[in-house]
Amino acid sequence: MKKFLCIVLVLVCFLFPLTACNNKATKNKEYETRTKTISYVHFNTVSTLSSYGDTTAEEFEEYVKTADEMLGYYHKLFDIYYEYAGINNIKTINDNAGKSSVEVDVELIDFLIYCKELYALTNGKTNIMLGSVLKIWHDKRETADMNGGYLDEALLPTVEELTAAAAHTSIECLVIDKETKTVYISDPEASIDVGAIAKGYAANKLAKKLRDMGADSMAINAGGNIITIGLKPDGDKWVTGITNPNKASENSLICKVEVGEISLVTSGNYERYFVSGSNTYHHIIDPETLMPANYFASVSIFASDSGLADSLSTALFCMSYEEGLALVRRIGNIDVIWIYNDGTIKHTDGVLFVD
Ligand code: ADP
Ligand code: MG
Repeated sequence: MKKFLCIVLVLVCFLFPLTACNNKATKNKEYETRTKTISYVHFNTVSTLSSYGDTTAEEFEEYVKTADEMLGYYHKLFDIYYEYAGINNIKTINDNAGKSSVEVDVELIDFLIYCKELYALTNGKTNIMLGSVLKIWHDKRETADMNGGYLDEALLPTVEELTAAAAHTSIECLVIDKETKTVYISDPEASIDVGAIAKGYAANKLAKKLRDMGADSMAINAGGNIITIGLKPDGDKWVTGITNPNKASENSLICKVEVGEISLVTSGNYERYFVSGSNTYHHIIDPETLMPANYFASVSIFASDSGLADSLSTALFCMSYEEGLALVRRIGNIDVIWIYNDGTIKHTDGVLFVD
């Protein structure tokens, strides 16, 4: 419940600035705003769709229906905890690790190939084969959740336990055969976890589909991953907010930025965590230390591709400012806001802050 409320709050923070232009007079006429919550189930989070301008109620309903179907499909395909009738998903692949290859939809093949590319691009900082290590942290968080978010220090994972699990995180164990549309994990103790990329990748596919359907002034909020399509009907840019990682602050947003057609993804240490002793342990794990990364409180990525933005938000969260800056300069056309635990903000040159 706490987790759910936390997610809703993050969404409110993000959505308020985007929807603040409701029914504002445009240069020539009033324009309509329509907003709908898609689902509380897909990716275990809340997604919303907002359209601005000339979209009719019927068109908007079509967009919502498409969003619901697509996010639902990718949720099932990428799920690591549950299987679904008539579909082989990531859980099926994980359950067959070291045993047999699994035939899957070409959509899943393409996604896993992309994840491997992102591993190379981020020097292994975003590693979908980190499942064995992430499972340890996930189980600890679940135990803590049943105890008011607190974990006894004696129950923290040991270095030995984490190091043993890390021996089963090689990206080479993920064998993808595009010809036969099969996937095989060659190490029986290895497993896939796509939490760092899945939501952004699915939202990106959805945005592409909605553009093809004719959407030209729209905002998608897939559990905090924002994608804008086109500009506001009056041709103005959008204004969106970055959540203040300091929950004790009276300002829920730490800053606001003006954006054009963009994907914005934030990884933060304030979303999912537990407390043990005097420390907090969040859900983004540095593959080098096997511990929650502690360079920043949050990292926000602005990129044209939401899957790339999602992967980079996790990767840059796990590396120093200098390393992150060098990486995004090498990729090009990416903007970043880094927020430190003391509230210090660093950013790339392209970020346009507004009051
Ligand atoms: P959020 O899930 O809050 O959107 P992220 O995009 O940063 O945040 O993804 C975090 C999730 O990704 C974790 O819950 C976990 O499943 C997975 N994960 C954590 N650390 C890594 C990592 N270094 N590489 C790949 N996946 C990770
Ligand atoms: Mg991510």
